[in-house]
Amino acid sequence: MKLTILGSASHIPTRHRNQNGYFLETREETLLFDPGEGIQRQFTLAGISPGRVERIFISHFHGDHCLGLPGMMQRLSLMEVPHPLKIYFPEEGLEYMQALSKASKFTARIEFEFHPLKAGLCEENAKWRIEAHELLHSTPVLGYRIIEKTRWHFIPQRLREAGLEVAEIALLEKSGRILKKGKTILREDLSCRDNGKIFAYALDTAPCSAIPELIREADCLLMEGTYLRSEQALADAFLHMTAEQAGEYARDHGVKKLVLTHYSERYKDIAAYKKAVVKVFENTHIAKDFDIIEI
Ligand SMILES: [Zn+2]
Ligand SMILES: [Zn+2]
Repeated sequence: MKLTILGSASHIPTRHRNQNGYFLETREETLLFDPGEGIQRQFTLAGISPGRVERIFISHFHGDHCLGLPGMMQRLSLMEVPHPLKIYFPEEGLEYMQALSKASKFTARIEFEFHPLKAGLCEENAKWRIEAHELLHSTPVLGYRIIEKTRWHFIPQRLREAGLEVAEIALLEKSGRILKKGKTILREDLSCRDNGKIFAYALDTAPCSAIPELIREADCLLMEGTYLRSEQALADAFLHMTAEQAGEYARDHGVKKLVLTHYSERYKDIAAYKKAVVKVFENTHIAKDFDIIEI
């Protein structure tokens, strides 16, 4: 997976930080999380075509997470991208989704698929699994967990040496072992394993009981750290997280890498974040706009 930060501000953008926007390239498809205002220009500055986005995930309908959506819908329509644009969002926000999708005059030239979600399984097939988890904020909010499933890539030379027929290869792929001329052949003997990655997305939320299940063993957790612990009272009042709390969650639930974002505009210099969080969880990336993070 590859994550590109298109915005790391919360509600108020700064000279160096746009509102939210996170572009995730997975093994299967390319996803965009929470397009805030200005997202189209951020794509241009990042050198990424917005037409590559196949699915958009909205965590909640505060403006910094969705005001870029009308522009993205119209842009992809203008580009006449060859795929439908699938949009996922908490079902309680349907009226905002409807308003945003009709925010200004345009003629839809592509198909839009709207997926109002409750917490639970969002999609599962042989390639991946997508889950939505209900978090705690001043409006309904969903966190998302994207799990790429293990894949086996057969090595052509080993297949030839084993002399397997097509039907036998299919059976081996499915069941993991077959019997050939009295000998057991294992899938791992003829292939290499691609474990897939887990990405967890948790914006905006106060600490809550759903977080451990959402983030456990994630290869990358993208989490809000709106405030520092010095502003804990503000974090509590507005149902947000401090950077240190995010670090504690990552440390306590087997997360491999934490990426922090959604900084309050009060912090002009985010260097203080690094100092505060690495003491709690060392493998923390303090996101800046246009950072690219290999997962
Ligand atoms: Zn926000
Ligand atoms: Zn919010």
